[in-house]
Amino acid sequence: MAPVTTTQRTVLTGARVVLPSGVVENGRVTVDGGRIVADESAEASTVDLSGCTVVPGFVDIHNHGGGGASFTSGTPEEILTGVRTHREHGTTTVVASTVTGEMDVLAQRAALLSELVEQGDLAGIHFEGPFISPCRKGAHMESLLRDPDPAEVRKLIDAARGTAKMVTLATELPGGLDSVRLLVEHGVIAAIGHTDATYEQTIEAIEAGATVATHLFNAMPTLNHRAPGPIAALLEDERVTVELINDGTHLHPAVLELAFGSAGADRVAFITDAMDAAGFGDGHYDLGPMAVEVKDGVARLVENGSIAGSTLTLDTAFKRAVTVDRLSLSDTVRAISANPARLLGQYDRIGSLEAGKDADLVVLDASYDLVGVMRKGEWIVRPS
Ligand SMILES: [Zn+2]
Repeated sequence: MAPVTTTQRTVLTGARVVLPSGVVENGRVTVDGGRIVADESAEASTVDLSGCTVVPGFVDIHNHGGGGASFTSGTPEEILTGVRTHREHGTTTVVASTVTGEMDVLAQRAALLSELVEQGDLAGIHFEGPFISPCRKGAHMESLLRDPDPAEVRKLIDAARGTAKMVTLATELPGGLDSVRLLVEHGVIAAIGHTDATYEQTIEAIEAGATVATHLFNAMPTLNHRAPGPIAALLEDERVTVELINDGTHLHPAVLELAFGSAGADRVAFITDAMDAAGFGDGHYDLGPMAVEVKDGVARLVENGSIAGSTLTLDTAFKRAVTVDRLSLSDTVRAISANPARLLGQYDRIGSLEAGKDADLVVLDASYDLVGVMRKGEWIVRPS
């Protein structure tokens, strides 16, 4: 039998395409060999996406799991289930977040997760805790919290063998500023979060090199007119990107709008902070050592009812941003793809629909519901 000649080159046609330069109606995206390419060959097969919008694949820098699986405690197979679940919801790049645990346990997790980073399934590791404030512990176990001793911070990033991307810490604690400097020296993002810092202390941490606010507003002092606290310091400094959880539970839409308007679209990263129940369902779960109950899609600690991560996926965050928050498509793409890709130092490869980059993209229908996901040129969800 004669071999069937097929072309690998595919052109997506007819859709509205969100490019860094703006939104193009009836645009084209050409994919070849897992990459986006500029030229359009006559040999290409076409996929008609009329009525749809094509945006870059989503990049989530703060995510604890999904699909019933935990990045903090799951086996490699379970972790991959979580990664696959988020991919099916448009997140083509996932950083795995841990929660507070024993130092030895965290070091072991780092070693395990680093293998998944090396094989390309995860984009890096984010350590959330244990170097956080007992006053703002959220869903982290208080007895395991500790001050950010640079030597211990160093142990964790060493255990991650070059795959640690970010550490969330309460920089006002003893050793906090030295730990920020150590992280910066090692090319790891220092994120201010689960913090009880004052406005002035937060400025010191930014001066020391901290560049991200972990889920701004959540697990930190509120904005007060006489004591502006970390929120004002983080919003006003152009060096800082603020994470926002756009699920309608963690932040009131008016507060999201305020933060977005204040920081500007280039300094916001939409994250999920998802736990196991994301893309899975209500029920009983564990978040590290803490028991969590998920009801109506809201995850709370059994112990005290504190919000324990989210069940958000980024396709839902995207739809919410354009339909409820009334953000433009371009601004939403910045917050959900481009800015987090830049933070990871990977904007040369992901985060926008440009020739030479990975063919990571999401197809949305007229209601902004997800109907297609492509990752490195392979359909994860094929548009019907
Ligand atoms: Zn988290």
